[in-house]
Amino acid sequence: MGYSENFDYIFVGAGASTTLLLRSLESRGMLTQKRIAIIDADSKSINDKTYCFWTSSDDPISRQYQHLFTQSWSKISVNRQKPEMLENAQYVYISSIALYDECRRIVEQHQLVREHSSVTSITRTENGVQVITENREFHAKTIFDSRPPAFALPEKNEVLLWQTFIGYIISPSQSFEPSDCVDLMDFDISQDGYTQFMYVLPLPNNRILVEVTRFGIEPITSDQAEPILNEYIQRRFGAYEILDKEQGKIPMSTAKIVCEKIDGVIPIGGRSGAIKPSTGYAFKKCFKERNTLRNS
Ligand SMILES: Cc1cc2nc3c(=O)[nH]c(=O)nc-3n(C[C@H](O)[C@H](O)[C@H](O)COP(=O)(O)OP(=O)(O)OC[C@H]3O[C@@H](n4cnc5c(N)ncnc54)[C@H](O)[C@@H]3O)c2cc1C
Repeated sequence: MGYSENFDYIFVGAGASTTLLLRSLESRGMLTQKRIAIIDADSKSINDKTYCFWTSSDDPISRQYQHLFTQSWSKISVNRQKPEMLENAQYVYISSIALYDECRRIVEQHQLVREHSSVTSITRTENGVQVITENREFHAKTIFDSRPPAFALPEKNEVLLWQTFIGYIISPSQSFEPSDCVDLMDFDISQDGYTQFMYVLPLPNNRILVEVTRFGIEPITSDQAEPILNEYIQRRFGAYEILDKEQGKIPMSTAKIVCEKIDGVIPIGGRSGAIKPSTGYAFKKCFKERNTLRNS
């Protein structure tokens, strides 16, 4: 084990909840004169997620994060029904890499410590909290822990489903009329004994994000998703080129989160219950955590 270092705050994980919280602390001038470390097992250098959510121009998240919106839509169509105008609202898209880059900017600008390593244990000590990674030991007064949540076995009337999805960013061979309408939950695909639907999100420069999503106990596999995607895209857009792929898995559960309570360790993000069991959305709830922490 290498040398140990002391910090005021340690953020375990450098994903959505940490970045949103860091930015909130930054805007309140709370990153100065503090020793802060951010530890993540991943380098966060790949665009591996799409963060979409509902907002409006007077929504605080819109005012603070508009510069990261890749795209916004003002119309929606659900299950291929007639597009409807979203009055005073928008559905917006932030690419995860834009958020990870924002985290890197904060780290550099405020000279925080960034550690690329997996945390193996977090324990209370006499003076604070000890965080052990694969190759170092850290100590801090307060830890913000965003490692993924573990759920208890669902009790009666509780569920644990997975929202799994595989998507392509495509460029159709025939140019696609730029559209201000996002297609949500198009169920016109084979269900295979699950609940499955498509998302179609038109993007700038003749690109479209097309995603097949399953709500189920077993995740959708590439072998199952790819024929569905291919058939659907051919049917709606004709020949196409795949520019990028996206794959994800979100727990949707009403069961309790199993998380040891440790004095000085604050769970954030999915670990604090931010993921809405009915939709798998969590981004806005992570953003709102800044208020909870302010009041605590
Ligand atoms: C593919 C995908 C797409 C999603 N899309 C949306 C969306 O469109 N809209 C929406 O509202 N929500 C969405 N969500 C749900 C939710 O907003 C995200 O999961 C969000 O990233 C949750 O933030 P978080 O900080 O809790 O977790 P994360 O952003 O996943 O961050 C946790 C970090 O912890 C790190 N980590 C894990 N274990 C360790 C360890 N032992 N040591 C060190 N680091 C560790 C991970 O590498 C990761 O970087 C999506 C989720 C997924 C998986």
